[in-house]
Amino acid sequence: MNKPIATQPSPKGVTATEPLLPQADWPQIYKDSIIWDAHACLPLLPNYDCRALERHRAAGATYVSVNVGMDFNPLSQCIRVIAGFRDWIAKHSEHYLLAESLADVTRAKKEGKLAVTFDLEGSVMLEDDLAMLGLFRDLGVRQMHLAYNRDNNIAGGCFGKNQGLTKLGRAVVEEINRVGIIMDCSHSAKQTSLDVMEVSTKPVVFSHSNAKALCDHPRNIDDEQIKAVGRTGGIVAVTGIGPFLGSDIETDTIIRHVDYMVEKIGVAHVGIGIDYSFDQDHSDLPEGEDPALWWPKVKGVDFDFSTVRFVSPERLPDIAAGLLRHGYKDADVAAIMGGNFMRVAGACWR
Ligand SMILES: [Zn+2]
Repeated sequence: MNKPIATQPSPKGVTATEPLLPQADWPQIYKDSIIWDAHACLPLLPNYDCRALERHRAAGATYVSVNVGMDFNPLSQCIRVIAGFRDWIAKHSEHYLLAESLADVTRAKKEGKLAVTFDLEGSVMLEDDLAMLGLFRDLGVRQMHLAYNRDNNIAGGCFGKNQGLTKLGRAVVEEINRVGIIMDCSHSAKQTSLDVMEVSTKPVVFSHSNAKALCDHPRNIDDEQIKAVGRTGGIVAVTGIGPFLGSDIETDTIIRHVDYMVEKIGVAHVGIGIDYSFDQDHSDLPEGEDPALWWPKVKGVDFDFSTVRFVSPERLPDIAAGLLRHGYKDADVAAIMGGNFMRVAGACWR
């Protein structure tokens, strides 16, 4: 019997948590470019009112990848969440579209809409069945990693025993390549990420991970991983989660992580995946699951969603402005803010 899934009648997270740069101050290159946020989290509630996504649209984002399940969320919940999000997007087609292809992302830019696709954080919801990957792709999933912090039958998580890909895991990577989903290694064990990058015939990404050299956290990645992802033609998307940034969540700190990635693998392999959690006091953890198992203390500090600081979508234009302030050229800003992900999605999506 599945655990009951909580539902919630009204959404939180619709109010901006930091000021948005006035549009008159947005850099022209920001206004002209595809702005791609590689990861965000809405509460995983069936029939959730997704109007918090307006914050991305108002901040000038063209595209956002929205999470629809982690390893602790049962398949039934993932499916109902996808059903609800799809339904909401379809009923709000004046401002949103579920992107099937790159052409849809380009069209969203032209029409002032926000393009959305889904991502999965883990692979337990596949229930060891490769055929689920094509189904999830058809339902809108365009990016996934294989383990959420803990080890599973397919891959190792970053808080596990540094497990690599299992035999089934290798087959899963091949099928992800085949059906047209971007292979993501955030939340994975180092060995799993290296195995994935060896097996994958398509570019691989870290959709929301920062540099371990600047902030020594198990969710961040070291130089070997950064260089390996560059060799696949992929991307490290710098994230705005406080504990993975280090001392603060200022734009300059985000740009320090961008600079680090650029120095290691070049401008063509860096992106942005803010990972804003829209309703931080809602827990997606099913009843009875231990938060300390999924988000263990790091250096004695709890990962508590009610206290962790998140960079919000309102920051996107300021990140572009910050890159220009730090000497990046217009073409570099366009690449980091979305052009690189357009290239990788073009190589991975069907
Ligand atoms: Zn995540």
